[in-house]
Amino acid sequence: MSDQPWGDRDSRGEWQPSPLPKPGSLKNLWDVLWPYNLIYMALAVLVWLYLTPSLETTKNFEWGWMLFVYLRNVALVTVIAGGLHLWLYVAKTQGVKFKYNDKWMARQDKKFLFGNQTWDNIFWNLTSGCLIWSAYEVVTLWAFSNKLIPLVDFRENPVYFVLLMWAVIYLRYFHFYFVHWVSHWKPLFKISHYLHHKNINVGPWSGLSMHPIEHLLYFSGVLLHWVIPSSPAHAIFHLLHAGVSPALGHTSFHKLLTGKDDQGLVADHYFHYLHHRYFTVNFGVQEFPLDWWFKTVHDGSPESHAQMMAARKKKAGKAGADDPA
Ligand SMILES: [Zn+2]
Ligand SMILES: [Zn+2]
Repeated sequence: MSDQPWGDRDSRGEWQPSPLPKPGSLKNLWDVLWPYNLIYMALAVLVWLYLTPSLETTKNFEWGWMLFVYLRNVALVTVIAGGLHLWLYVAKTQGVKFKYNDKWMARQDKKFLFGNQTWDNIFWNLTSGCLIWSAYEVVTLWAFSNKLIPLVDFRENPVYFVLLMWAVIYLRYFHFYFVHWVSHWKPLFKISHYLHHKNINVGPWSGLSMHPIEHLLYFSGVLLHWVIPSSPAHAIFHLLHAGVSPALGHTSFHKLLTGKDDQGLVADHYFHYLHHRYFTVNFGVQEFPLDWWFKTVHDGSPESHAQMMAARKKKAGKAGADDPA
């Protein structure tokens, strides 16, 4: 992916990797796990085992355990998004090497709260983001405790339990594509999704920087576990994946360097970076081919770009033809 010399920037300071390959739909069962989704899954299991109140406790809504869930989620986002921000944007350990553009987070820009992009993004993460994530989690745990939704026990159905953990990733991808696509419907974009798209240049905190209406839709995928027999572990993984994975998906860095000779972890989210740049393409994720199937893909190639421009022209022409004036 990073076979182009990283220093080749265009006149606007943009650097781009080679065009993105189409992912296999079911061929990539392991690829889709390794490494990040497996890390998120392991983290979710640890959170479920050690940082989640027991089903006995969650039978009744009480401020103590509900506040604990919220503060734990705040801590998760702060460690992951905050850690990436400190590493890449404060310490600037690799400068703009492997960065998709050569810009940093905006300061003194009135379109952001407090005139500062980082503080604006942090605000939406820790208030609306973590509150709505935690509210979904609290109500789901309460529903499991009171046997209002179907509960699966690992000891009784270990194979189903593990397969469903893996399937959570795919449930997320489908749900995200459609919810995100709907969020670009003009009226909804105007009242909610515009807030996420204020970030054209993105950083780790931009991932979960969304309007409360968008948070309500974005985290609603967990409601699938109200229907599909699941356990708190599945619901926690679903929400945690939605809560923390956008941080890595918005770093703006293709590779996170950890050693000499450009060694490092591939962060590789040029796909979503292009969504922030062009708005009308790449509603899903690069790991699963929904955008290829629905012809909303921009893989970074000139052909893809020409297709996007043609689609826009067609849409503009149609709008013009519909216009009675
Ligand atoms: Zn985004
Ligand atoms: Zn969008």
